[in-house]
Amino acid sequence: MAPLATDLFSLLHSDASTWLLSATVLGALAQLWRAERARSQLRRRLSAANSRLDQAHTHDSLTGLILRDGFESELDRAVAACDSGRGALALLCVGLDNFRPLNDGYGHRVGDAVLVEVGQRLSALAAPHGVVSRLGGDEFALLLALPLAAACEAAQQILQSLQQPYAAEGLNLRLGASVGIAAYPEQGSRPRLLANASMAMRTVKLGGGGAHACYHPAMSVDVREQAELVQDLRQALARRELQLYYQPKIDARSLQVTGAEALLRWQHPRRGMVSPAVFVPLAERYGLIVEIGRWVIEEACRQAAEWREQGLRMRVAINISGHQLRHDDLVDHLQAMLERHGIRPQRLTCEITETVAMEDTGVTRAAFERLRQAGLRVSIDDFGTGHSSLATLRRLPAAELKIDRAFVSDLASGERATTIVQTIVQMAHQLGLRVVAEGVETTSQRDQLVALGCDELQGYLFAKPMTAVALALWAGGDDDGHVDRAFRPSLFDPTAPAELSS
Ligand code: C2E
Ligand code: MG
Ligand code: MG
Repeated sequence: MAPLATDLFSLLHSDASTWLLSATVLGALAQLWRAERARSQLRRRLSAANSRLDQAHTHDSLTGLILRDGFESELDRAVAACDSGRGALALLCVGLDNFRPLNDGYGHRVGDAVLVEVGQRLSALAAPHGVVSRLGGDEFALLLALPLAAACEAAQQILQSLQQPYAAEGLNLRLGASVGIAAYPEQGSRPRLLANASMAMRTVKLGGGGAHACYHPAMSVDVREQAELVQDLRQALARRELQLYYQPKIDARSLQVTGAEALLRWQHPRRGMVSPAVFVPLAERYGLIVEIGRWVIEEACRQAAEWREQGLRMRVAINISGHQLRHDDLVDHLQAMLERHGIRPQRLTCEITETVAMEDTGVTRAAFERLRQAGLRVSIDDFGTGHSSLATLRRLPAAELKIDRAFVSDLASGERATTIVQTIVQMAHQLGLRVVAEGVETTSQRDQLVALGCDELQGYLFAKPMTAVALALWAGGDDDGHVDRAFRPSLFDPTAPAELSS
């Protein structure tokens, strides 16, 4: 008890206390209470002022989102959680496209209202566990406890949400956004993560914005050159600069041709032939792959029909990107093109890389199910480079598995590579899949792969990718003679009648 209160207490209980004293005592008590109330009000006001000051340091006064320092601390916490094995982590940088002209044109009140709305939309998307920060100006950052594939889906949702109109000061405005993603730790250590996501976002902006991109080390190398390439790629389809080359797949035992894989080529007007290893990842990052992929599907079906007219019986395989797989109308488009050109679905193989096939998200599972229902063959490409789960592999409607070139080229180096290939072949056969080895360059590789039980082979030993016309000439024996001809006549024969005519 406070000393003054103790004094009053004893005064009240003293023998001399009378009712005359009571008034004095009560007056003193009231005074004490008022003083105490004033002190606590002052304390409350001080503490509110302090927390307002703290908030002003850690939170953005306009959007109420945490500022960069607070975000860095949250990032430290999230990285520590990730390091101790508790979940995944992705950092997304979001930049508004063309915010500056809007801000300058309509004034800062409108600009501010848009920024507040952007903050609210991002917070709603990140809830309940994500962290959203305003880094400054028109740049925001999100921390999401998601692996890369799911973070890409989140980025798509962000883009869709931010594209919705903004009602500000009686105006109905539209804005685009660019999103850069860096997943921890694959795409950046703790000190690099924010810078890398930001680099990815700026790369998207340079390429015209309105898309998301995952950080790639090449981005740090020459962002401007990439941006130029993307601009050119946007026009490549219209300018008919894209072309399909075809590389045969050979039956390992009979050496007969079973099919041909369509591989994209870009004849750039100034740079010459640009490899798909360069432009396909760019097309994926900048949202161009779906349109290009649609063209590949149509062109491959058209070519398959033309070959059929010429009497060439073989399957045609196309490569399908993960972005296409996640796109709603992939299977509808495939079916429409097959129908238009009179091709049976079993004749078309969709090669999907192992990394994409194993994503096992709701969206990819649904896409695989639709491919299965449509009767299309699925081939798992570059097998061995990802982290396969047997359970996922069993669920896929796959008919074929392609062993990555790296294992084939390692075959000469010894037992380990041989054991890996052998294990893959055995596992695939148990799951009822045909095994194709890609990148076969030497006869000794061919012999080893045949001995290990591979069903089909593909590689420069047999033929490099070539134009459709060259393939027909090669098949007819009018090529330049660099090819092993033992299997050539089979192009005109039904090599696996049951399969090909089914
Ligand atoms: P991929 O589907 O695994 O294709 C095999 C790649 O290995 C091709 O490279 C092919 O030319 C090359 N190759 C084949 N045999 C040999 C060999 O014996 N030795 C060596 N060193 N290489 C060989 P390419 O044509 O440059 O294609 C690279 C990748 O680009 C493809 O890998 C595929 O992932 C992607 N790609 C190509 N066309 C398309 C397409 O239409 N759509 C999509 N989404 N991706 C495509
Ligand atoms: Mg392929
Ligand atoms: Mg491959």
